Amino acid sequence: MDKKRMLSAITTTGQITLGNYIGALKNFVALQEEFEMYIFVANLHGITVPIEKDILRKNIKSLVTLYFACGLDPNKSTVFVQSDVLEHAQLGWILTCNTTIGELQRMTQFKDKSTKIKSENGTEFIPTGLLIYPSLMAADILLYDPAFVPVGKDQKQHIELTRNIAERMNNKFGEMFSIPQEYTPKLGSKIMDLQDPSKKMSKSASNPKSYIALLDDLDVVRKKIKSAITDSENLIKYDPENKPGVSNLLTIYSSLTSKTMEEVETHFEGKDYGILKDEVADVVVELLSKIQTRYNELFNSQQVDEWLELGANKARKIAHKKLTKVQNLTGLNYKRK
Ligand code: ATP
Ligand code: MG
Repeated sequence: MDKKRMLSAITTTGQITLGNYIGALKNFVALQEEFEMYIFVANLHGITVPIEKDILRKNIKSLVTLYFACGLDPNKSTVFVQSDVLEHAQLGWILTCNTTIGELQRMTQFKDKSTKIKSENGTEFIPTGLLIYPSLMAADILLYDPAFVPVGKDQKQHIELTRNIAERMNNKFGEMFSIPQEYTPKLGSKIMDLQDPSKKMSKSASNPKSYIALLDDLDVVRKKIKSAITDSENLIKYDPENKPGVSNLLTIYSSLTSKTMEEVETHFEGKDYGILKDEVADVVVELLSKIQTRYNELFNSQQVDEWLELGANKARKIAHKKLTKVQNLTGLNYKRK
């Protein structure tokens, strides 16, 4: 039987975090055996908020290398950079024209990110891309007809919008897209900010103490975990509503050790927060040290460029076929009767 297809991406807005790893990247790697996997670096989404060109370039290179350093296998998965496949932007435009402003303004990510720009920079300069990127994201997905899109919980709303756009296009112009489902991990689909556990951990956060970057110095990682906000109860229990900080540390521990939450709670029974933080730091540091070693081996290797070219060529074939179909059905392709 043919393998089902999966597709996902991470944006180049900042340094890849432990949240991105647990909610997304770890699953890409685990699922590549079972699924036909398409994973890309979403650099077009990386310019939806203002970013300096040197930082952008660095982020792209770093994310590409991290994909392979974390275990994506170029022989099993198709890994590429979004802007290398021009069809993404072209279909993005067609779908933008079939999406309403109201739908886009309702997106929580748009509301959060535009509010953040206003409050932090005191500016009304909200790039239009920040509003319309979900329709580009719909194009990213629909070009490849994936059955599933492995993402963290924050992306659920965008996948729902993608489904709505796909259904709308199919109804209006004729069957062109299959309808994708999101695929979120049972645990770890929303790792929280270490300094404010009511918010999700984000790579675009302004305070670096609120996230752990996969490439952070390992001593810094320990310090960040030590200074994570907990509560004053000194009771280790999984209770995300009342004990979000402690529950977040338990979730990180459980995700990285593959122990169930019950096993983790038993393990920490009667222990204090100091021990919890030390042990969480140990498992995180162990993981990051492996990733960083591989990262340093791969960084600047010509092999990575070759893998990306291979990936882009494979992606382009599928994307081109789908775009042609859409252009035929929507009347853009004037040569076709
Ligand atoms: P930004 O703040 O720029 O949006 P981000 O950290 O949210 O950055 P994205 O590139 O938007 O990262 O998301 C990449 C993937 O990581 C998505 O599947 C997203 O759902 C997942 N993800 C992001 N943050 C978390 C988190 N805190 N916990 C679990 N998964 C997450
Ligand atoms: Mg995000």
